Amino acid sequence: MPTTTRAIVQTGPRQLELRELPIPDIDADSALLRVEACGICGSDVEQYTGTLPVRWPLIPGHEPLGIIEKIGDRAAQRWGVNAGDRVAVEVLIPCGHCTACVDGRYQVCRGRGGMFGYSYVPLSHPPGLWGAYADYMYLDPCSLVHRMRKDIPASIAVMFNPLGAGFRWAVEIPDTGPGDTVLILGPGQRGLASVIAARAAGADTIIVTGLARDARKLALAQELGADHVINIEAEDARRRVQDLTGGHGADVVVEVSAYAPEPVAEALYYAAAGGRIVLAGVKGFKPVPAFISDLIVAKEITIKGAFGVTSRGYASAIRLIESGRVPVEKMHTHDFALADAERAIQMLGGEIPGESSIHSCLLPGSR
Ligand SMILES: [Zn+2]
Ligand SMILES: [Zn+2]
Repeated sequence: MPTTTRAIVQTGPRQLELRELPIPDIDADSALLRVEACGICGSDVEQYTGTLPVRWPLIPGHEPLGIIEKIGDRAAQRWGVNAGDRVAVEVLIPCGHCTACVDGRYQVCRGRGGMFGYSYVPLSHPPGLWGAYADYMYLDPCSLVHRMRKDIPASIAVMFNPLGAGFRWAVEIPDTGPGDTVLILGPGQRGLASVIAARAAGADTIIVTGLARDARKLALAQELGADHVINIEAEDARRRVQDLTGGHGADVVVEVSAYAPEPVAEALYYAAAGGRIVLAGVKGFKPVPAFISDLIVAKEITIKGAFGVTSRGYASAIRLIESGRVPVEKMHTHDFALADAERAIQMLGGEIPGESSIHSCLLPGSR
């Protein structure tokens, strides 16, 4: 068992450095994870550029999959896992006692001072190893972990994150079921995961929008179960949605496009009367132009924000991956070594000319 771990430390906007940090002792209630894979997420890009408010220095990486290296007796009993087990780790570390937690809404728990979760706790908070851009990560006593089969390649198993988001954002929150028309705005990994989840939930018609440069992702959306795709730069998307839905509009609209605020305003036109809109794409705190609130009133539209995933959403995703029924691996485009974390983030953020990733991950074990 090594006494130190490699970790990528972020010290400021666009400042990442590879450091060697001490591995802490664990007590009866905590554990140590050997990170097999960490998914790269759109919010990693925001964290990297400094758009997301966090306290530096810290270790990024909030989508961990790994092997329990060491675990305290009480943690093993409470979590139902043992050393050697593979686990998917939820990003949020809820306090378990606040009103949000006891009401089952731990995504908005603030019981530990602001949002508390992997990748968002500074290095100064003991024992420091709070992110999965590392060989080893600390597992806090309040961690939520899900055991996962070990025979699935780590870069595919770690897709429990985007797929979990798909289940919560496109199914749980809007209560999607058979007969619903689901319109997904944005064909990134969350949009594609929403297609898979909506299909699994029995949605009737699934439509995905994207830009001209998203042609490959839109084709993939169709392979994964979308009935129709719309290139909003080449087509009149409002009209197309009306045509595809027999003039009714979409029962469910899931907004997962990155940065662009315009689709939020457009969603009000796409939604059916009585429709449900889920907003999950972050916009760098930009305002939404031409937002016509009267459409919400006149159509009695319900709009809900989605932040993070529920345990139920993660469990659905893990079952789907383990079932092998859906070719989720088609979404996976890139594996990166730990030392290439910056390149991984920049590629997802579209900062590397001529190259783009959909689902990608760091594989710390593969030096
Ligand atoms: Zn994420
Ligand atoms: Zn709480």
